[in-house]
Amino acid sequence: MRKTIVAGNWKMNGTSESIKALLENITGGAINIDGLVTLVCPPAVYLSQVVAQTADAPVSVGAQNVSAQPKGAYTGEWSLEMLQDLGCEYVILGHSERRSIFGESDAIVAEKVAAVLEAELVPVLCVGETLEQREAGNALAVVSSQIDVVLQQVGIEGFASTVIAYEPVWAIGTGLTATPEDAQAVHAAIRSQLAKHDANIAENLSILYGGSMNAANAAELLAQQDIDGGLIGGASLKADEFLTICAAAAESRK
Ligand code: PEP
Repeated sequence: MRKTIVAGNWKMNGTSESIKALLENITGGAINIDGLVTLVCPPAVYLSQVVAQTADAPVSVGAQNVSAQPKGAYTGEWSLEMLQDLGCEYVILGHSERRSIFGESDAIVAEKVAAVLEAELVPVLCVGETLEQREAGNALAVVSSQIDVVLQQVGIEGFASTVIAYEPVWAIGTGLTATPEDAQAVHAAIRSQLAKHDANIAENLSILYGGSMNAANAAELLAQQDIDGGLIGGASLKADEFLTICAAAAESRK
């Protein structure tokens, strides 16, 4: 059975004090129902604080990135063993900011997905096209090739334990959102791409939408058949907005 996942990507925001306050509100209102995952992904330096503060709440914790290397001379990086040690369950990979600002190629992202699966954490694999690629009519081709590189690395079996986030790059942090119909079309295409390899794995895969999802547009997006949650940036930094999206996600499971 597919899970519905509402994931907050806090990016490089917050202080220990502001995160404590934000989490108090999120844990206070978190919805505890079967099949709904509420996930927060703080900056890495606050992961252990967030894991401790969510210990008794129905809130999971993820990192925003990880090294594919096990250990050693990689200044500024952190390993999967460290994330396991902290009690972190999910890892966002291939976010467009990692791809465009930090030069992460499809191959690097695929290598990280393989490492995360090997460590038995859950990768949240981000894919999505730029505005230029969409306007050229290439959105589906871009997303499909980003997924293909990962498929070649981990096989279809890897997608049994992976979450995909479709994040059109032009919608991230811009206030622009894909229409529910456009987002649904890409989500359905992703599912059918994977169904060609294994229908059951494709059916059970959670595919999240990301790109300016907020309290006002979440219900309509989440009502789409192949949208199984959201990866939320800006709106996840406000507890009331984030909880409204969680409530819409819970409603979408009924
Ligand atoms: C994101 O960073 O993954 C994201 C979707 O950001 P925003 O919701 O702010 O567009």
